[in-house]
Amino acid sequence: MMASLITPTIPFDVDGVHHGFLRLPFSRDDSAWGNVMIPISIVRNGNGPVALLTGANHGDEYEGPIVLHELAASLDPDNIRGTVIIVPAFNYPAFRAGTRTSPIDKGNMNRLFPGKPDGTVSEKVADYFQRTLIPMADVVLDFHSGGKTLDFLPFACAHALDDPRQEAACMAAMQAFNAPYSMKLLEIDNVGMYDTAVEESGKVFVSTELGGGGTSTARSVGIARKGVRNFLQHAGILDGEPVLQDSVQLDMPDSDCYVFSEHDGLLEPTVDLGERVNRGDLIARVWSIQRNGQPPVDYHARRSGILSARHFPGLVQTGDCVAVVAVVVDDLFPT
Ligand SMILES: [Zn+2]
Repeated sequence: MMASLITPTIPFDVDGVHHGFLRLPFSRDDSAWGNVMIPISIVRNGNGPVALLTGANHGDEYEGPIVLHELAASLDPDNIRGTVIIVPAFNYPAFRAGTRTSPIDKGNMNRLFPGKPDGTVSEKVADYFQRTLIPMADVVLDFHSGGKTLDFLPFACAHALDDPRQEAACMAAMQAFNAPYSMKLLEIDNVGMYDTAVEESGKVFVSTELGGGGTSTARSVGIARKGVRNFLQHAGILDGEPVLQDSVQLDMPDSDCYVFSEHDGLLEPTVDLGERVNRGDLIARVWSIQRNGQPPVDYHARRSGILSARHFPGLVQTGDCVAVVAVVVDDLFPT
């Protein structure tokens, strides 16, 4: 396979703090020999474990970029052992545009792994992560939130995996992140995900959903800030012990957790995030936006649990995810 066209402007193997870019040539109307310049920081102190930290895999999710910029500006190599690779805005063109996908090629960074070295800009970035950055890493943390169209209970998450030891290592790192909620996440669409690419390479992977609506809050940023430090401490990279508080354990046993809209209309939530529901309970109504005098369409929970995610905009389209109901469990570790 051809070599990546991406060139890092800083070294990966020199102790200290280096701030620079992943430079990807991108010829276009306003810059004939231009480049996409993705900010990256490498903090290194000798041999040791390597952490790869990313935000804005989707460009309209903000807790990751905020705390990773803060970490890059403040992490002291004297307080670590090993290497921390920090990319606050993984899909940088999308981040600059404030959109989920890239304005250059509509690339959804979390659906096009393993990427292509001779593909679109987004595919080239994915390929660089697939073949260069993921192999360097021992532990990987990828920050997400709901973006402009979803809102989540603040949770860290890990997936059910075929290898029980790898799953246990991912779950332990998720517990160390210690968001108020910890989720064993069932994906509806895992083909091409960064998550899957990292997990298939055998690495420890943790993701998050910390809020949503295309913004952040003081609370959601605080959760991310504590979580990334806890994650690095758990990995043996950052000095100190993780600060741990109670975290509600959530599971998604099957696709009945999801409720999708079969109507276009005006969305009336009837349950808020974090509230308990029983199977069959009304969780939302969709009103006609075409004519008056129509009854709303009722949407019901398909299983009992707590409302963990919801559609954020006031209008809903057919096919949108209206709600996710997850199940509260005692213990997520495999037996
Ligand atoms: Zn996302």
